[in-house]
Amino acid sequence: MTLYRAQVMDTPDDPFRGGELRADADAGVLVDDGMIVERGSYADVRREHPGETVVDLRSGLLLPGFVDTHVHHPQVRAIGALGMPLLEWLDRYALPEEARLADIAYAREIADEFTAALVDSGTTTALVFGSHFAPAVDLLFQKATELGLRITCGLVVGDRMLRPELHTTAQRAYDEALELAGRWHQEGRTRYAVTPRFSLSCTDELLDACSAAKNDIEGSWFTSHINENPAEITKVRELFGCSYLDSYDRHGLVGPHSVFAHNVHPTDTELKLLAATGASVAHCPTSNAALGSGLFPLDRHLSSGVRVALGSDVGAGTGFSLFKEGLQAYFLQQLRGPEGVPMTSAHLLHLATAAGADALGLRDQVGDLEVGKRFDAVWLDPPPGTPLAIGLRYADGPSDALAKAFALATPHDVRGVWVDGERVKG
Ligand SMILES: [Zn+2]
Repeated sequence: MTLYRAQVMDTPDDPFRGGELRADADAGVLVDDGMIVERGSYADVRREHPGETVVDLRSGLLLPGFVDTHVHHPQVRAIGALGMPLLEWLDRYALPEEARLADIAYAREIADEFTAALVDSGTTTALVFGSHFAPAVDLLFQKATELGLRITCGLVVGDRMLRPELHTTAQRAYDEALELAGRWHQEGRTRYAVTPRFSLSCTDELLDACSAAKNDIEGSWFTSHINENPAEITKVRELFGCSYLDSYDRHGLVGPHSVFAHNVHPTDTELKLLAATGASVAHCPTSNAALGSGLFPLDRHLSSGVRVALGSDVGAGTGFSLFKEGLQAYFLQQLRGPEGVPMTSAHLLHLATAAGADALGLRDQVGDLEVGKRFDAVWLDPPPGTPLAIGLRYADGPSDALAKAFALATPHDVRGVWVDGERVKG
């Protein structure tokens, strides 16, 4: 067993429902075979277990591993294109890059770069939008498995309005999903997610094939985009003659295993259906700001009872760090004025950890550092003398220290990352 000694912060109780930040200044977290078996003050746990190896992390903060609920694996090299709205950005920037993953050598490099970036930023669990090419998705699953990451991912499919080389057919989409799921679904820490790009790029026939795959892969997940940009929403209505959510719902694709990215412009009816079915929304604030998609109505999601977590949406999002996404989520609510949801650092940590675990059905395993959970953790320990190190040193209590972390932390300040008790960074 290993005993971790650290200042630990997590949010086992949802701050959006009255919970508070749990902060232990000098905690002992005892881990056996990847699971947290005891937690208390370091002095108490050490007294009970005097012989175990101690890992001293007191120079920084120990947080639960981050959960990114929306990130595109083929877009690691597409980060940073500014000045375009969604549909133009896709055509000019993202989709040409996605087409390059047809080349297996290229796809291998991308899988390496993508998974390394997740680890580097402290993301231990992710719902990943895969590639349009099955061999590239295979490589991503392989690499994630080598590193031990908790990855739910799938082949991305579309059969219209993309580049021709990205289009598939309903039969091929179904067959490839079943093949990939046969290799990777519920194998170790990987799972399969049926992933139409967005209903704009999918005929009803293809969405039917997605529905069939979802039903035939037991315990699989579903993810796609929704209500990101007004021009896109108008086109979906023209094509399907219904709301964006209904374009999925009429194929049976909305349920507790469904995660929809964005939802910046939902109707009240859509929010009601999301809540009633137990579906989740991945809020992607840097992407929403970069593409000018809009200000996420968090208040309406919360009052409707819709589950919300964070997504980086790389490459429209501007990086892999959920510290940055948390900060941007805070900024967006500030900019909404009286309609904005006031948030503390505890809210941001919750969105980046426990809320994501909940959206992905993994709340019994990860999301906080409670006894019985797997030891997925991030050790934030900035170089001495940096503004973050100074801020943490002079912080006015744990909540203030955590706020400084969200304001200032980058992947360079993440000194250690563990998944299932295995150290994957540092
Ligand atoms: Zn996206």
